[in-house]
Amino acid sequence: MNVILYCRVSTDEQADGCSLEMQERYLTGYCNNHKYNVLATYHEDYSAKHYDLKRPELKVIYDYCRRHRNEVDKILFLRWDRFTRNLEFALTYKRKFYDELGIEINAIESPIDFKGTEWSMLLGMYCGAAHTEDEKISRRTKDGIHGTLLKGKCSNKAPRGYINRRDDKGEPYVEKDETQAGVIKQVFEEVAKGVEAPNNIRRRLCPNIQKDAFYRMLRNIFYIGLIRVPAYKDDPEQIVKGQHKAIIDAETFDKVQDILSGKRKPMVSKTIDPDLYLRKYIVCPICGHSITGATSTGKGGKYKYYNCCHDGKHLRRPANYVNDKFANWVGGLRPNQEVLDLYTEVLQDLRGEHKQDVQREIEALRKEIEKVKERLTKADELFLEGNLKDESYNRITENCERQIQELKGRIDLLQTDTKGLKDKIDYSVNIIANLRNFMMDAPVKTKCKILSSMFPGKIEFDGEKYRTQSYNQVLDLIFQETNKLRGCGEKESEKSEEVSHSVPRPRIELGTKL
Ligand SMILES: [Zn+2]
Repeated sequence: MNVILYCRVSTDEQADGCSLEMQERYLTGYCNNHKYNVLATYHEDYSAKHYDLKRPELKVIYDYCRRHRNEVDKILFLRWDRFTRNLEFALTYKRKFYDELGIEINAIESPIDFKGTEWSMLLGMYCGAAHTEDEKISRRTKDGIHGTLLKGKCSNKAPRGYINRRDDKGEPYVEKDETQAGVIKQVFEEVAKGVEAPNNIRRRLCPNIQKDAFYRMLRNIFYIGLIRVPAYKDDPEQIVKGQHKAIIDAETFDKVQDILSGKRKPMVSKTIDPDLYLRKYIVCPICGHSITGATSTGKGGKYKYYNCCHDGKHLRRPANYVNDKFANWVGGLRPNQEVLDLYTEVLQDLRGEHKQDVQREIEALRKEIEKVKERLTKADELFLEGNLKDESYNRITENCERQIQELKGRIDLLQTDTKGLKDKIDYSVNIIANLRNFMMDAPVKTKCKILSSMFPGKIEFDGEKYRTQSYNQVLDLIFQETNKLRGCGEKESEKSEEVSHSVPRPRIELGTKL
C-alpha cells in the first residue's frame, strides 16, 4: 500500500498542539503500524484563511497522482479539519482524487468509508462542523470585544503609560503606569504649548518611541479617559467613557489636536496680525475677558475689528479706531523734561564711571598677565639651568599659558561691553522721544516689545478710553501725568498730545531696564 502524507497548519491552529512535526509523527506512526509504504510527505503551511483554496502542495500531490495514478493508493492526513474546514473544498478533492483517479483521501482519525452510503453526511459533519465552529468563535470574539469596549474597558494591550492587570476575580482592568505616565503628561503639555515642534519634543523627552507611534499616541483619546468603539454590525462608531484613569486633561488634549491638525500653529512661527496687535494687552472692562480680533467680510470688502471674546455687545469696534486711540493714549505721555535732564546727566556719569571702571579692570587684568609671564620666564630660566624637572616645567608652562588665554578673554569681553552700551542708550532714547510714532508705525514685533515692557498687566478699553491699574513704575519717572494711564486727568489729553511732538529729543537709557 503506497501512501502520500499531507500535513497542514494555519496560524490559529498551530497553538493547539498540532504542529507539522506532530502531524507527521502521528501519520508516520500510523503507517508503520499498518505497514504502509510512505512515498512522500508534503507540508502545507500557508496559514491565512484566504489560502484555504490555494493549496500549492496539494496541487503538487494531485499532479503527481495524475501522472502516477497506479502507483499511489492513499493520501492520508491527521483529521478532516486539518485537511479543510470548507465542505465544498472537501467534496471537490474527494471527487478529483477518489472518483476520477481512484485514489483514496482520508483522515487517520475518524476515517470515512467512501464505499459506504453515509460518507457525505460524515464529511459534512467533520469539515462542516469545524467550519461552523470557526464562524462561531470569530463572531463570539467580535461580539466580546465590542461588548468590552462598550463597557469602557480596554479590550487588548493597553497603550503606553498603562498596564493591563487582573483583579481578584480574574477580571482584566487597566492601571496607570506611573513611571511612564509622567513623561507622557509632560510630552502632551509641551506639545500643547505650541512652542516646539512635536518631533523635537519626542527626540528630547522620549527618543525611544518611534515617530509614527508618537503621533498615534498624541491622537489617542484613551489618554483622556475615553474609549473609541468602532462601528460594529448596526452600531455606529461611538466614544464611551473608559473605566481607566485619564493621564491628560481634555483641554491640553484639545490643544494638542489643534496643533497636530494645523489649526493652531506653533507660536514661534505665528505672526501677530499688525492690525490686531493689541489683542494680547486689552481686556473688556465689563466682564474682564480678553478682547479678541477678527476679520469680517462685509459689503465694502474685508475689515478688521476687535471684540469682547465673551460678549460682542460689550465691545465691538473697528481695528483702526482702537489702534489709533491706543497710539494717542500712550503717545500722549509727555516725557518729564526735568527728570530726563537729570537722567541724562546721571547716565552720562554712569557711562563715564562705567568706562573708568572697565578701564581700571582691564588694567588690572593686564598686570596679572604680566605677572604670569614673569613666572613663565622664571620657569624658563630654571629649566635651562637644569634646576627644574621636565614634567614640572611642562606643567608650569601649560598652566601659565592657560591663565594668559583666560585673562585675555576677559579683557575682550569688557571691551565689547562698552561698545554696545552707547547704541542701546541711543535706541532707548529714540523710543521715548517718539513713542507715539512708534505706536503708529513700528514693526508689530517692536510695538509688542515696548508694550510688554511698559504694561505688565492688562489694559481696559471701554470703546472710548483706555485705562490700566498696572504699568511699569519707571514710567512715573520718565513721563509726566502718568495718572492718565489710570484713567485720570483726561481733560488735558488733547493738549498733551500736541506737546509731545515738540519735546526735544531726550537722552536717556530705557530699553533694558523696562
Ligand atoms: Zn466683555
